Amino acid sequence: MTMLLLPRLRLAHLPTPIDELPHLSAELGFRLLVKRDDQTGLAFGGNKTRKLELLLAEAKAQGADMVLTTGAAQSNHCRQTAAAAARLGFACRLVLMKPVKKSGNLLLDKLLGAEIVWTTRERRDSDLQATAKQAKNEGHHPYIIPYGGSSPTGAAAYAYAIGELLHQGVHPDTIVFASSSGGTQAGMVAGARLLGFRGRIVGISVDEPADVLKSRVATLASETAALLGKPAKFTEDEILVEDAYAAPGYGVLTEAEKQAIMRFARAEGILLDPVYTGRAAAGLLDLAAKGFFRKDKTVLFWHTGGTPGIFADDYAKALENIAS
Ligand SMILES: *Cc1c(COP(=O)(O)O)cnc(C)c1O
Repeated sequence: MTMLLLPRLRLAHLPTPIDELPHLSAELGFRLLVKRDDQTGLAFGGNKTRKLELLLAEAKAQGADMVLTTGAAQSNHCRQTAAAAARLGFACRLVLMKPVKKSGNLLLDKLLGAEIVWTTRERRDSDLQATAKQAKNEGHHPYIIPYGGSSPTGAAAYAYAIGELLHQGVHPDTIVFASSSGGTQAGMVAGARLLGFRGRIVGISVDEPADVLKSRVATLASETAALLGKPAKFTEDEILVEDAYAAPGYGVLTEAEKQAIMRFARAEGILLDPVYTGRAAAGLLDLAAKGFFRKDKTVLFWHTGGTPGIFADDYAKALENIAS
């Protein structure tokens, strides 16, 4: 089944490599692979770069000269948006939520020339609209990228990414990754259905209860399939989300994440981030300890990026303490 090819501006280094993780595989007793979307190549990479190839093509088609988006102070999505805007010649305004966390992605946003507007969680959406209105008053044509880049257009990038994986000749029994605004998971689920991939797609929720995330992913997957010219209906009960690790809240670095970050770093030389991939890897290791993965199976950890977060002041301090 072929998917419609949406307009796309090249930003990412694709296909991203797939690496074996031999030491962790030996420890865990099943074959563990990692797909390196931390290596998409744009300003330290990450999963948002794939989405931005499609989103900024849409912005260009609409005649935009500025992109606006929103996220946490340490948002990887905002950092990659700032870089993509610089590369493709758009102005960029980021509406970032307090609390301010210094260094890491925030430093890079500024270096990449993005203008920053501070907001709070409660005022996020109204401040984004107000920022767009002000940009229009200044004579700009702004294009608003939703939180996490998770519109059907953004999510479609991960339907194509499933095609990329299959083209690399890898057919894992389970894919595990960090899921939050749901675009990555929705795209994967839509791509899997359209391309006949039958492995499990397990999102480790970073910050949402499973029922909330499942319903968001199912809706977005249905919209994404329609956008790709293959309407298909997805229901919540077929979306796999594990929310057992989300309780500490967004961006809270607990002992489990610290241990997962250390284990991947020291066993394989792979760097994870404190917010997303650290939590997803902690979940994967815990699920492995509980026997969730069969010994004869192949598990693919889809690394979604975020590594500059390690250098944010308070995360760096926490990681330094454990490492010494
Ligand atoms: C945004 C992000 C995610 C989550 O992707 P969604 O499409 O928002 O679910 C996972 N990992 C990292 C590093 C991210 O920046």
